[in-house]
Amino acid sequence: MQAKFDKILEPISKELMTPESMEHIKFDAFFANVMFHETAHGMGIKNTITGKGTVREALSNQYNALEEAKADVLGLYLVTKLAEMGEYTNTTMEDNYTTFMAGIFRSVRFGAASAHGKANMLTFNYFQNEGAFVRNADGRYAIDFEKMKVAVEKLAGDILKHQGDGDYEATKTWMGEMSVIKPELQADLDRVNAAGIPVDIYYNMGPQVLLK
Ligand SMILES: [Zn+2]
Repeated sequence: MQAKFDKILEPISKELMTPESMEHIKFDAFFANVMFHETAHGMGIKNTITGKGTVREALSNQYNALEEAKADVLGLYLVTKLAEMGEYTNTTMEDNYTTFMAGIFRSVRFGAASAHGKANMLTFNYFQNEGAFVRNADGRYAIDFEKMKVAVEKLAGDILKHQGDGDYEATKTWMGEMSVIKPELQADLDRVNAAGIPVDIYYNMGPQVLLK
């Protein structure tokens, strides 16, 4: 995780976030966001409340991306609530929200073939519609903390409703509309690619390494 932060998340932030945002790009926030992402997977709705069976069965090929988006935003919601309760004090919410935004740029690069990639397209477009961030003329992003907090609650609620309803067609339509990369974002991601920032960390492993 430290390597992903040092080699990918921080360099992406330097390309795409405003200079003032950089003080909130923190490894501890990245770690917490990922930890609570995994925690959030274990929470929520497993069976539809409409008699359509499990959420996984009802939403079929739409399930994975929606569940990854749920874990992202519900995880951030958990961090927020725990901070408000005084139970989580490692980082500030500004750190967690700003680092989360940088994390969207990191994960959206996995592309539409990946559940994580699609999930982050959904979150990016939803946040944009809610005014959770502003994009300056030079293609750099800054967080509107109040609006982002509201957007996190709203998106978590919308996702959980889709899961509880288990309406495949409605979810497919919504995901289809929301899980796209618009030209403006693509141009920003092209800058990240041009800077030579890797998409992911790869390990040299396997027999060919051992036999050297
Ligand atoms: Zn996940």
